[in-house]
Amino acid sequence: MTPLAQEDVEKIHQHALEEYPFECCGVVLGRADTADNDTLIRCANIQNQLHEKDPETYPRDARTAYYMDPKDLMSIHRRAREEGLEIKLFYHSHPEHDAYFSDEDKRMALFENEPVYPNARYLVVSVYNKKVERDALFFWNPQTRIFEEQEKLSP
Ligand SMILES: [Zn+2]
Repeated sequence: MTPLAQEDVEKIHQHALEEYPFECCGVVLGRADTADNDTLIRCANIQNQLHEKDPETYPRDARTAYYMDPKDLMSIHRRAREEGLEIKLFYHSHPEHDAYFSDEDKRMALFENEPVYPNARYLVVSVYNKKVERDALFFWNPQTRIFEEQEKLSP
């Protein structure tokens, strides 16, 4: 895995602060072997709209959940295919919560107990009082079959 560029980490922090007190979300597209093509793409978190329309199915609002706009995800996948890129990183923020990989985060990252994107990493940004408190980067370990926290942000 190539290191996450400091510039991208800063852009993700900025996004987390702009969306506060709601969760932000997005991806980094690129190639596995180099950071040269890395492109950060913000996604809309439509959790508030879902919660408003159907609070029974979506009991949480965007303060404690995110739902990536499927339109954004579709255009990301199209671009990835056209440019030969892959999703290297998913990121989202936890306003007023720590940077852990929650049960809900795990549930979304897995399908029938297999990782949907086995090579992607997941960055969680903890924001308290409109200040970034901590980052944590998680990756799928095929040996232990759990998402583990990487000790340093990069590589
Ligand atoms: Zn989360």
